[in-house]
Amino acid sequence: MNDAARVLQDVFGHKAFRSPQEEIVATVVGGGDALVLMPTGGGKSLCYQVPALVRPGCGIVVSPLIALMQNQVEALRQLGVRASFLNSTLDALGARAIEAALLAGTLDLLYVAPERLFQPRTVELLQRAQIALFAIDEAHCVSQWGHDFRADYLQLERLHREFPGVPRIALTATADQRTRAEIVSRLDLGAARHFVASFDRPNIRYRIGPKTSPQAQLLRFLREEHAGDSGIVYCLSRNKTEDVARWLVASGFDALPYHAGLDAATRAANQARFLREDGVIVVATIAFGMGIDKPDVRFVAHLDLPKTVESYYQETGRAGRDGLPADAWLVHGLQDVIKLRQMLDASDGDEAHRRAEQQRLNAMLGLCEITTCRRHALLHYFGEESPERCGNCDNCLEPPQTWDATESARMALSAVLRTGQRYGVNYLIDVLRGSSGERIATAGHDRLPTFGVGAALDVTTWRSVFRQLVARAYLRVDMGDYGAVRLEEKARPLLRGDTGIELRREEKRSRTRRAAAPAPGGSGVDSVLWDALRACRSALAAEQNVPPYVIFHDSTLREMCERLPRDEAEFGQLGGVGERKRERYAAAFLAVIRSMPSVG
Ligand code: ADP
Ligand code: ZN
Repeated sequence: MNDAARVLQDVFGHKAFRSPQEEIVATVVGGGDALVLMPTGGGKSLCYQVPALVRPGCGIVVSPLIALMQNQVEALRQLGVRASFLNSTLDALGARAIEAALLAGTLDLLYVAPERLFQPRTVELLQRAQIALFAIDEAHCVSQWGHDFRADYLQLERLHREFPGVPRIALTATADQRTRAEIVSRLDLGAARHFVASFDRPNIRYRIGPKTSPQAQLLRFLREEHAGDSGIVYCLSRNKTEDVARWLVASGFDALPYHAGLDAATRAANQARFLREDGVIVVATIAFGMGIDKPDVRFVAHLDLPKTVESYYQETGRAGRDGLPADAWLVHGLQDVIKLRQMLDASDGDEAHRRAEQQRLNAMLGLCEITTCRRHALLHYFGEESPERCGNCDNCLEPPQTWDATESARMALSAVLRTGQRYGVNYLIDVLRGSSGERIATAGHDRLPTFGVGAALDVTTWRSVFRQLVARAYLRVDMGDYGAVRLEEKARPLLRGDTGIELRREEKRSRTRRAAAPAPGGSGVDSVLWDALRACRSALAAEQNVPPYVIFHDSTLREMCERLPRDEAEFGQLGGVGERKRERYAAAFLAVIRSMPSVG
């Protein structure tokens, strides 16, 4: 066994590296630079933690979020790793002690905030210490193109010059080419080896459906599939997060709001409860998420449409980091598209930028409307090829029905054209269905040939037709004109009768219930034992004031249920049980297992 494999087993309790961890670790242990692109939950931390323990000296980790540093340091200390952080939460005395430990060579890993790193005092300190490596976490923060840009990250380019010979490893879950190129150039990583892991998250089940009655839909999803689970519900606006959190609480859930408009103390308290307690739901704007390193988030629900596929994938990626089954659930409607387009139009930035954003929104809409495998489409979007069907998304599990909507679509387009491309969807549906209304009569639209031609379809179906026509870029909603619908170039051949169109049918699907994913405890697992192990973990966590998953992940508890270890040696064989945790916790958990009447 080589040094890296031994550290992996003895300290972390893992049997084998995941691809491409092993090669990354070997590269950095050997003194080389590396750029690592791996999805959330892929296992980035080990890529620098193991080399930092193998190489002489202390590994310096640059990380943008203080909350994340604290969690990582807590988790490492549980493993017996000598880890600390240097950031603004320390007083002068605390900082001195850490500096002294670094110089004395008694630190394995030191997390440093980027703004702290280049203070003259820190640079001078690092010059005198033995440094094993520099890890640059969330490396996409150096990109001005992305929304996580941090000016302090630009300075990291100095590392190469000021610490020649110290290997650098930059890590991110942001995959797109443009960001990657920017990381390489701004961090001077031209000579680094690039490692791109698969971005697939096979344990996440993707589901996207039409928004009919969002409140009832969300409640049904939570009650039927996620009672007692931790999860995140994303909404577009701050007010809405508070409303939704309030009615979830009224419906018996333990829910908390989170958005940038809450005062810092409330935000911190809500985030802490989410991290430290089981079964808390956070209802949040996109302000929540980066640096939430909680492995047992069982679902991510979207009540509003994300702006881009990138943000959708990043947000849903926060589910199921522990590799156990998790759900990504989204409902969307035409109103979402209108709202997002409004936001786009109101944003500053030049025409080219706006057009690019428009295209990204269209890609998101496309993902919502496809009838083929969602995972295949997602991975394809990020430039990765995968099987045509994944077997773990709504479209694979319950192939959607489509219908020949050529006739109806043509009616809809013709209604748009004949009313002068000046009206919104509700009005157009009234015209199509032949509704009597003063506005229609005044405009003389009750005398149009399209008036009433669509009476056979109900309002819901017409809304679905319009939504899909907008999503597929036959129609565009014009924001300057109160949501007026206009024809796109693509609509011409359809209107002329040169092409046809299939749309997805949705009435039936939205009612069908899927087979529930297996509970984290696993099927066939003794639920009494599972609950007792969780209670034991919670008690140990509360004693030390750390989140439960820092003691053991659900996956380790699940293995306990399945393998029923009888002694400390068998306990040490479980995934996630390194030497330190075995010594510390075997007795408590073995006692729980032995106390079960069915065991022993
Ligand atoms: P990321 O930082 O990429 O989001 P983490 O480093 O937090 O991912 O790892 C995600 C999860 O996978 C953690 O629970 C970690 O313990 C687990 N993990 C990572 N590498 C391995 C491995 N080689 N064997 C078993 N579990 C692993
Ligand atoms: Zn699929």
